[in-house]
Amino acid sequence: MHCLHCDKTSMTTETLVLGAGIIGVSTALHLQARGHSVAIIDRSAPGEGASFGNAGLIERSSVVPYAIPRDLRSLLNFASNRSAAVHYDPAFLPRIAPWLMGYWKASHPKRLMTIARELLPLIEACLDEHDRLVAAAGLSHLVRRDGWIEVVRHDAALSEAAQRSAKLKADYGLNAQVLDRAALSRLEPSLKAAAIGGIHWRDPFTVTDPGALTKGYAAHFEKMGGTVIRETVRGLSSQANGWRVTTDRGHYDAANIVVALGAHSGGLLAAQGYRIPLVGKRGYHLHFRPELAAGLNHAVLDEEVGYVLAPMAAGVRLTTGVELAAPTAPINRVQMDRAERRANEIFPLGKPVEDTPWLGLRPATPDMKPVIGPAPRHKGLWFAFGHAHHGLTLGPATGRLLAEMMTGEKPFADPAPFDIGRLL
Ligand SMILES: Cc1cc2nc3c(=O)[nH]c(=O)nc-3n(C[C@H](O)[C@H](O)[C@H](O)COP(=O)(O)OP(=O)(O)OC[C@H]3O[C@@H](n4cnc5c(N)ncnc54)[C@H](O)[C@@H]3O)c2cc1C
Repeated sequence: MHCLHCDKTSMTTETLVLGAGIIGVSTALHLQARGHSVAIIDRSAPGEGASFGNAGLIERSSVVPYAIPRDLRSLLNFASNRSAAVHYDPAFLPRIAPWLMGYWKASHPKRLMTIARELLPLIEACLDEHDRLVAAAGLSHLVRRDGWIEVVRHDAALSEAAQRSAKLKADYGLNAQVLDRAALSRLEPSLKAAAIGGIHWRDPFTVTDPGALTKGYAAHFEKMGGTVIRETVRGLSSQANGWRVTTDRGHYDAANIVVALGAHSGGLLAAQGYRIPLVGKRGYHLHFRPELAAGLNHAVLDEEVGYVLAPMAAGVRLTTGVELAAPTAPINRVQMDRAERRANEIFPLGKPVEDTPWLGLRPATPDMKPVIGPAPRHKGLWFAFGHAHHGLTLGPATGRLLAEMMTGEKPFADPAPFDIGRLL
């Protein structure tokens, strides 16, 4: 079915994708490639949500998702609320208590390994699926293909990281190289002596401007005949032959709806009777112009402290860990200030480019898996959200999986682990 009329405020199309983040845009591209007429609706330009401000890692080496640690030292560190990796508003935690409980249970080592196994086919596909879209959209100038570096500050941490990477190499075939201080300095001459070594995770790609990548994918979607509508979605109602989406400007009808609104997906679906445990794990970034001739050749993760330094088009991007606070709470600089202070110990950051940090929401389910697939009680309603720390990584693989399900192709990965039913 084709567009009947494409005036701005009302249109009928085969599929409407709600959300122009990396997940929505990738899904739209995969549906378009399979012959669907597709429009995307977003209140902002494509790639302005979480997909704008992430650390840019297409994380092929992250085969085990970010669980709640179970060792007492890490837990006490988090509980102190002084870590850069995790910060929380004590008044917010009771509001997400069931989600936290679910996250804690899913973090049990045995369950975590099952979850990692279920996610693996998507992770294994992440580089190839990005590669295809990058080539089609002509965006290879945004992608680096030489991995990222996990730095350590102590000998004990280096031997622990070396053991961990050897196990991941053996279990998952990852390409990881242990770096002593000299090897680290050869790769990253600007790192100070506090970084005594690290692991070079060589498989992943990194992106020098994640917002531009999503925008570039969206521009390719439009070039191939897709429509991007810039309006705010207000509601969703089922019709005799499909769905009606109401926006601030009008309404749009479609046989299929894909909900890809990132951390905002839950609100819209609550009105359809789906109470989805989705929390926006907040995260910040700020760019820096390094001192003198200092620079970074790779993204660098300081695991012990909990931040990433990523060389980007706009400067060296410092991204923080997780903040658990209400989605609309004001920006709290405490975590960024901590991360900045500690990052300066290993790298001469220089002056910040912006006055205020950027804030984004990672859409997180309690079991660390995204939701990909059909709504159980509504024909033509499809879900693609909840990618938490790995949405940039998994966007194109998710888009392919969902498009295959929607068009009745044999899915390249088992979709059962991503069914919403597990969370309801
Ligand atoms: C600090 C930080 C670092 C990260 N680092 C990485 C990384 O290195 N690698 C990685 O893989 N992932 C990373 N992530 C996670 C990744 O950014 C997210 O998982 C991913 O961007 C989620 O994509 P999305 O399309 O689901 O959501 P979004 O990009 O947030 O897109 C959702 C869209 O919905 C739109 N929207 C919401 N409500 C409405 C409405 N009512 N009407 C119309 N439009 C609406 C928004 O405008 C937005 O464009 C990081 C995240 C953060 C915050």
